[in-house]
Amino acid sequence: MSAEPAEPIGPSGARPGRLLRLVPTTNRPTAPARDSTATTVIPAAPTAPPTTVLAAPVTVPPPTTPLSAVPAADLVVVRAAEAVRAVWSRLAASEAEVAHWFGALLFSLAPGLRTHFPAQADPAARRLLRSTVAAMAAVDRPGELDAAVAALARELRALELDDTADEPLGVALVGAVREFAGDLWAPGADDAWVRAFSLAAGPARAAAAELPGVVGATVVSHRRLSWDLAVVEVEPDSPVAHRAGQSVSVEVPQRPCLWRRLTPAGAPRADGRLEFHVRAVEGGWVSRSVVAHSRSGERWRIGPAEGGPVVDPGAERELLVVVGGTGASVALAICEDLVGHAAAGVDVRPTTVMVGGRTPEDLHTLDRFADLAGGEPWLAIVGACESDPFDTALAPGSVVDAMSRSGPWLEHDVVVAGSPAMIRASVAALLADGTPLDRIHYDPFTDDDGS
Ligand SMILES: Cc1cc2nc3c(=O)[nH]c(=O)nc-3n(C[C@H](O)[C@H](O)[C@H](O)COP(=O)(O)OP(=O)(O)OC[C@H]3O[C@@H](n4cnc5c(N)ncnc54)[C@H](O)[C@@H]3O)c2cc1C
Repeated sequence: MSAEPAEPIGPSGARPGRLLRLVPTTNRPTAPARDSTATTVIPAAPTAPPTTVLAAPVTVPPPTTPLSAVPAADLVVVRAAEAVRAVWSRLAASEAEVAHWFGALLFSLAPGLRTHFPAQADPAARRLLRSTVAAMAAVDRPGELDAAVAALARELRALELDDTADEPLGVALVGAVREFAGDLWAPGADDAWVRAFSLAAGPARAAAAELPGVVGATVVSHRRLSWDLAVVEVEPDSPVAHRAGQSVSVEVPQRPCLWRRLTPAGAPRADGRLEFHVRAVEGGWVSRSVVAHSRSGERWRIGPAEGGPVVDPGAERELLVVVGGTGASVALAICEDLVGHAAAGVDVRPTTVMVGGRTPEDLHTLDRFADLAGGEPWLAIVGACESDPFDTALAPGSVVDAMSRSGPWLEHDVVVAGSPAMIRASVAALLADGTPLDRIHYDPFTDDDGS
């Protein structure tokens, strides 16, 4: 670690018999509100997390196996995960506070890591804490472990944290959780949490190594369509692997380390360029900057693609795609992909695309949809405008209203994309009408952590 804590001390009030470390005054994190003492003492893990991680595979017996029949090595894994779940199930409600402490402690232990986080570090620290604990809590559940480890790997890659960060990460995480756990911190919890961290970190490192790296990209055009909407085209230095409808993470020079997800508007292109439709959200750090200040020639960084619907072009069931605002990018990608399949001779499933916008400007993609639908009898496009009830070419009101009026959509696969509010409203309306949840695909359209 690059910052060694000061001498271990044992202040009055410390738990007897426990080794404590005082965080140096200059690097000391701001104490949580409940701790107003002048000297902040961070209880340290009695043994630092091992830098060499324990090797998973984790084999866990079925629940019916009597404990006496469980191999000792597996029991250690189960107990480590149980210890994490037991504490975190009670602490999750304080996640924001724990994450603040975790971040502060991490930067005091390894000041060099501060540059990997955005100016406002708490949201990124919170996502990292959450995904690390989720992976630690799943080390005895092979069915959940892969997804949890993949999410942690993406966070590690997004923050560009390599394995030299593991030790301060583990120490900061255990220290922060213990600080808030109070009486929940049972004897042996240190060892169990350190072990769970090591068990999760190993596979996460391996998964992170498999992820495509970050690619530099040059902005080649920036068109501002309205005060809060811009279309930006970028040319990556090397191709960004993605499927139609997936999103990629993006970092712009005006907002270093603040990665946001954007969805290429259209299927992957032969020239590798990516077009993004960006809406400035109120108070938005990145979106407002992109809409107002991005310029041709500036350099962006593009991270790996993820999420997105998997659309089988020839499936028997009909397809409904309901999108609002910049969610239209997802629909454009799906339609272009399906049109490509139709051109290749696939009997593409009947598809209805409903595109909603608050204003006519929001519906700037409708011409492109109309071009796509031109020679394709299987593709129907419906536009809905909230502010122009007299345009007879458009359905009046919101796209959710338009969808409900022409429903129910009981026999369809459905893809929904748009703002968080639009997604919530669409999914609620579909479920109320009887569309089964497992036929509805949506990505949460925000990385907001609810803080
Ligand atoms: C899978 C996925 C794909 C996405 N694709 C696109 C895209 O193609 N084009 C695009 O413009 N955006 C897209 N987003 C949203 C984008 O990633 C950002 O969340 C959004 O631009 C806001 O970032 P910000 O830094 O400006 O706002 P922040 O500074 O992070 O947040 C400011 C405020 O805005 C709220 N907020 C955050 N996101 C949204 C949102 N989407 N709608 C309304 N309010 C929000 C926050 O709760 C907060 O109150 C996508 C998000 C996801 C998860």
